[in-house]
Amino acid sequence: MSLKKIRVRFAPSPTGNLHIGATRTALFNFLYAQKMKGEFVLRIEDTDKERSKEEYEDDIMRSLEWIGVKWDLGPFRQSERSDVYKKYLNKLIESGKVYPCFCTKEKLEENRKKQQERKEPPRYEGDCASLSEEERKKMIEDGMDFVFRIKVPQGKIVEIQDKIKGKIEFNTSDIGGDFVVAKKDLSPLYNFACVVDDYDMGVTDVIRGDDHISNTPKQIIISEALNIPIPSFAHLPLILGPDKNKLSKRHGAVSLYEYKEQGYLPEALFNFISLLGWNPGTEEEIYSPEKIIEMFLLEKCQKSPAVFDIEKLKYINGRYIRSRKIEQLTKDCIPFLVKENILKELSSNNYQAVETKKEVSFKEIEQIIGLYQERLKYLSEVGELVDYFFKEELEYEKELLFWKNAEEEEIKKSIDKSIKILLNIKEWEKEKIEEILIGEANRMKNRGLLLWPLRVAVSGKKASASPFDIVYLLGKEEALNRLKKALKKL
Ligand code: GLU
Repeated sequence: MSLKKIRVRFAPSPTGNLHIGATRTALFNFLYAQKMKGEFVLRIEDTDKERSKEEYEDDIMRSLEWIGVKWDLGPFRQSERSDVYKKYLNKLIESGKVYPCFCTKEKLEENRKKQQERKEPPRYEGDCASLSEEERKKMIEDGMDFVFRIKVPQGKIVEIQDKIKGKIEFNTSDIGGDFVVAKKDLSPLYNFACVVDDYDMGVTDVIRGDDHISNTPKQIIISEALNIPIPSFAHLPLILGPDKNKLSKRHGAVSLYEYKEQGYLPEALFNFISLLGWNPGTEEEIYSPEKIIEMFLLEKCQKSPAVFDIEKLKYINGRYIRSRKIEQLTKDCIPFLVKENILKELSSNNYQAVETKKEVSFKEIEQIIGLYQERLKYLSEVGELVDYFFKEELEYEKELLFWKNAEEEEIKKSIDKSIKILLNIKEWEKEKIEEILIGEANRMKNRGLLLWPLRVAVSGKKASASPFDIVYLLGKEEALNRLKKALKKL
């Protein structure tokens, strides 16, 4: 066994927000580094100047931080490392393994067409490889455009032992001939920058999506030309939607940070994404990050595509919400209530209902959210569930007050009765309120006749928490107030 410390890297291109697939790559690198007590490098591959944007880089970092993927080294930006690439490129130019290619687009296109006609796969025919030093000098002096190509040995079998996919073999003749590694100004293309960086940054293990398998032989050829060690590879399977098509927005997959905005908990996503292509081989689906790290084995990742199922994510999120301490859950929910303009923060732990201007304490909000902890699937639902506690006027149709086939008169009487009952309650305690109301309801021909109109009158909703909880938390005055308003509707 090698005693070398494991070092992995996550190398996103900042050309978009961090999405699920890239998060999975980052997470698996993190899990492996943690498990092996190794190190994690964050490298921003921003060589594409047109498409790389700072805002995407920021999104990638805030998203990783949110979900709990920590890096030990970096961020390193390829745009700040041109001297390093130049150094390695010059080595290859000097040793003749890389040469300038002056072929024009037109010429390359013409070659490609001829190859097509001969039913041959497209390849660079190596015309510029055989130019003499004088010819090259002259062409450069004449100001001709060029790129740098690396010489690809032909007919050689390159074999890699992928930690997930097993043995993979490539024939160097299938690569398409000598390929471009850098531009005229010595700026590198992806494969070259990647190999140089992995070596220069001491990366021992490359863990990435299997859409990069086709780059692997090229990267090995570059490593061999540079005479540097080749890292270990592990290519993770693709992620598909439940319909087996490429994962997209249609399947509910959005950028990672949007899940935060929709009210998913970071531990739930950590848990859910860890299971995209790996599983601990048990029935259980809920694991803390620590437990996942403890159980994680790169070799146990599946070869076949992973399936992204948003319903499973909702289920896992619900489980995390239920197991959260109510104080923490309340802290998590408050920003959503503020965002929806239901609450306003006056000072820390002190809030105001925007509509009624009434002050609301953290404890009161905590009690209200406590009523919904069991059924909350994601935090952004909280507003529509609890808004009625903070409203001045409830908007509902009077028909909603009607229990089954009851007549309007009966409903009026029922609400009247609730008013009288509440007026008579001396000790405003939840158990007391419940006991008295249930007692009265049982005395009627149907419990619902008392409890349904009461619940609608205090919540204005078809579905809500129990009338006892609502009445208790609203307080006597407000509960009576709402019942009287209900009466007026009739
Ligand atoms: N920058 C590449 C990407 O975002 C990563 C390549 C790699 O991991 O080697 O797909």
